[in-house]
Amino acid sequence: MMGPMPDRYTGVREGRLDMESGTWVKVAPGVFHRRYQPLDIGIVVIVGGAGLLLVDTRSTPKEGAELLLDVGAAFDKPIRWVVNTHAHFDHVFGNQVFGPGSPVNARIYGHRDIVRHWRDYEGPRLAAWRRDPTWEPDKAWGDVILTAPTDLIDDALDVDLGSRTVHLVALPPGHTDTDVVVHIQDAGVWVVGDVVEESGPPMFGSGCFPALWPRQLDHLLGLLGDGDIVLPGHGRPVDKSFVATQRREVAALARAHIAAGPPL
Ligand SMILES: [Zn+2]
Repeated sequence: MMGPMPDRYTGVREGRLDMESGTWVKVAPGVFHRRYQPLDIGIVVIVGGAGLLLVDTRSTPKEGAELLLDVGAAFDKPIRWVVNTHAHFDHVFGNQVFGPGSPVNARIYGHRDIVRHWRDYEGPRLAAWRRDPTWEPDKAWGDVILTAPTDLIDDALDVDLGSRTVHLVALPPGHTDTDVVVHIQDAGVWVVGDVVEESGPPMFGSGCFPALWPRQLDHLLGLLGDGDIVLPGHGRPVDKSFVATQRREVAALARAHIAAGPPL
């Protein structure tokens, strides 16, 4: 007699929370984190009774397709929901692989201002990359179809995955004006995008509000519990004390930025 079929994700190595790349790492029950190059971006899969929720879609349709294959190889449920943590290209330009009209046909959740942000920043950036064929020719920027969220987050909303509910919270402006964090309350895990960065210094990228970022981190710190796991947009899992330290760094950087430059 055969025993029960093993979970297809039991092969994921557990308990290795740092310096793991190229594998799904279980950070909590039904919460898996994988770091991808380039950019050491952190992608998260949350397993629900009715399917998978995927957080962020990588930088290009090609990278998104690779991600889709990796999810399919490791998990035996379909991706039914996607969350965009913010508007920046490295987190959303793979959306078309997962959104409406794709074979996956998942719902995509994102901040209500994400499309405006794309119009002001990511759209012109993409157009400039396309105009210069010498710019990262391996990336096929011409293949990107900006694919907007199907479900917009004004303030906060819950997504019922079947057997567990995930909370999506829009943060006040700071790192960008489109930041959303994902709270898996039953697991004590937060997915926070680039509001927190582990593998590099905090980035004052497009559509950033440096002067407001410390306040945004204060808001996040008010939500975090002491023992919670925090999954940043880039790098390894961290905790509340790391976020508090980064808040001090961001405040110092913002002061220097403001002192050095023209009015923001
Ligand atoms: Zn990023």
